Amino acid sequence: MPVSGLGPYDEQNIFARILRGEIPCRKVFEDEFALAFHDIAPQAPVHVLVIPKGPFVSFADFSAQADTAMIAGFFRAVGTVARQLGLEVEGYRLLANMGKLSGQEVPHFHVHLFAGKPLGRMLVAPAAGE
Ligand code: AMP
Repeated sequence: MPVSGLGPYDEQNIFARILRGEIPCRKVFEDEFALAFHDIAPQAPVHVLVIPKGPFVSFADFSAQADTAMIAGFFRAVGTVARQLGLEVEGYRLLANMGKLSGQEVPHFHVHLFAGKPLGRMLVAPAAGE
């Protein structure tokens, strides 16, 4: 069973469909462990998503269930994407939402890679009422 409050893996989630080639994406990198593509609603000049090629609902699920080769291969792919995009000099931010309080929308583990401008504070204050 997946380890997170998000329930079992949904084979119809949008990133599963992208992995199966059912929905297009603007691909920036792919290897046996990971696929990276531009976010459809970018929040920075560079906003890329890196997803593992496996049925992992969240970081909690991935870190508990993925085998060692997948964990190493996935995180090496994240670094490769940043390097291939030429982001290492100016810097970048990695972010992974996990579960309800984080606002995770897509129940397939993914890392956001942001770059291309000063990224400000790590956490933006919640809007009034949140
Ligand atoms: P999260 O809130 O961490 O689950 O982030 C989900 C991200 O997926 C958001 O930044 C969305 O803009 C992005 N997203 C949703 N659908 C697509 C898609 N079809 N292609 C690329 N990015 C997407």
